[in-house]
Amino acid sequence: MINFDFLTEKTIENLVQLIRIDTTNPPGNELPAVIWIRDLLAREGIPAGDMVILESAPGRANLVARLRGDGSQPPLLLSGHVDVVPVEPKFWTHDPFGGEVVDGCVWGRGTADMKGFLSMYMSVFIQARQQGLPLKRDLILAAIADEEAGFEHGSQFLVEQHRDLIAAEYGLTESGGLTAYMGKKRVYPIQVAEKSVCWLRASTFGQPGHGSMPHEDNAVLHLAKALERLRRAGHLPIHLTPTVRRMLDSLAENLGFPLGVVLGLMRSPALAGVLLRMLPVEQRPLFIAWLSNSVSPTVLQAGSKSNVIPSEASVHLDCRLLPGQKPEDVIRELSAVMGRQVKLEPLTTSTGAEFPVDTPLYRLMEKALKQMDGEGITFPLLMPGATDASLYQRAGIKVYGFTPGILPPEISLTKMAHAHDERLPVSFFRSGLPALWQVVSEICCA
Ligand SMILES: [Zn+2]
Repeated sequence: MINFDFLTEKTIENLVQLIRIDTTNPPGNELPAVIWIRDLLAREGIPAGDMVILESAPGRANLVARLRGDGSQPPLLLSGHVDVVPVEPKFWTHDPFGGEVVDGCVWGRGTADMKGFLSMYMSVFIQARQQGLPLKRDLILAAIADEEAGFEHGSQFLVEQHRDLIAAEYGLTESGGLTAYMGKKRVYPIQVAEKSVCWLRASTFGQPGHGSMPHEDNAVLHLAKALERLRRAGHLPIHLTPTVRRMLDSLAENLGFPLGVVLGLMRSPALAGVLLRMLPVEQRPLFIAWLSNSVSPTVLQAGSKSNVIPSEASVHLDCRLLPGQKPEDVIRELSAVMGRQVKLEPLTTSTGAEFPVDTPLYRLMEKALKQMDGEGITFPLLMPGATDASLYQRAGIKVYGFTPGILPPEISLTKMAHAHDERLPVSFFRSGLPALWQVVSEICCA
C-alpha cells in the first residue's frame, strides 16, 4: 500500500527544491536542475547505469532514467520539461524562485508549468521502483529542456539524436486531468491533440510615390483593407476534427441546458458559425481555436520614411492549424477572405498531432479521473498551442496530456501557467497522485 500523504509531502519537498533552481528559458540552463534530479533518483535507489544526462548544448541538459520491465510490452514514457518562462518579480506576492508554501499553496515559477507535474512523475517513478512493481513495460522518466522556447534542445534533440532512449508506445506529459470549470460543472480535459504552427507573411503592393501626393494604389491602404476583411470574417471556415467531435459529444451529453444543447448543435458545421457568435465573448476564442484554423496578425512592416509612400506592406500572421490541415489549406482560406492580390508565403511551420482515444491507456485515464472526482466530466482536448507531444509524435509515441488533480475555481491551469503568482494548492497533489499512480501502475503491469 502506498501512503499518499507521505508521497504528497515528498512531491512538495522536491518541487520546492526544483523551483529554487532557476531554469528561466531563455537561456534555460537546465543542467543544474537535471543533475539535482539525477542525484535524487540515485538516493532513492535508481541504479546509475539506468540514468543518462544528455547535453544538447552547454548547460542545456536532458535526463533519461529507466526502470526495466520484462519486455513483454513496449515502454511508457513520463516526460516533464524543467525549463520555465521568465518572470517580472515586482508583480509577485512571494519570491518566484523561493519555493514558499503559503496559505496551502506552493508558490513559484514552474509550479503549474511544469515542475509541479514533473515532481509528480518523479514520485510515481520512484514509487514504482520501491514497490517493486512487476513491470511488463519499461517505465522511462525524461526531465527535459527547452519546451518553452522551441523544443530544439529538449524533445526535438531527443527524438532526432537519441530516439532509442525514449522509444515508447505511450507517453504522458502536460497537461490534462486537471479541473476546469464550465458553469458550475467540473470538467477534466485530457489533451490528445495539438494544433500545428504556421506563420505566414501577407504582403500587399502598390505604386510608390511622394507623401505629399496621395493616391489610391497605396500598399499600406491595401493591407489595411485586407486586414479589415479578415476582422469582419471573425474566423476561417469550420472543420470538425475527430477529437473536437468527441469533445462536443461528451459535453453535449453531460452539461445539460443551455450550454450542452448549444455545444451539441455545434457538431453541425453549418450551424457552428452562427452558434459561435452566440457564445459568451470570453469563451469564443477557445471555440474558434477548436473549430477552425486560427489567425492572429502580429508583426506589421511598411515604409522607412515619413514622406515616402512604400511600394510594399506586410504583416506576419500567426496561424494555428487543426490536425490534418496543411499550410496550403490555410493559405487558400486566407486568400478567399483577404483577397487574391494579397501575397501569402510561409515563414515557419511545424507539425501538430492527433492521437487516438480508443486505447487502453486513454480508458484508464478516464477511469482514474472518475474515481478522483465522481461528478467530473472527462473529454479529449485539442490544445490550441504546442507542447512536446507534437515532437514525440515523430517518434511514433502516442502522447497524452495527463497531470491529474482537483483544483478550486480560482486556481485554474490557464490562470496559473506563465502568470504572475503562479502556484498550486497542496491539495491538488494529494488528490492527483493516486490517479496518476493508478494509471501508470495499471498500464505498466497489465
Ligand atoms: Zn509547459
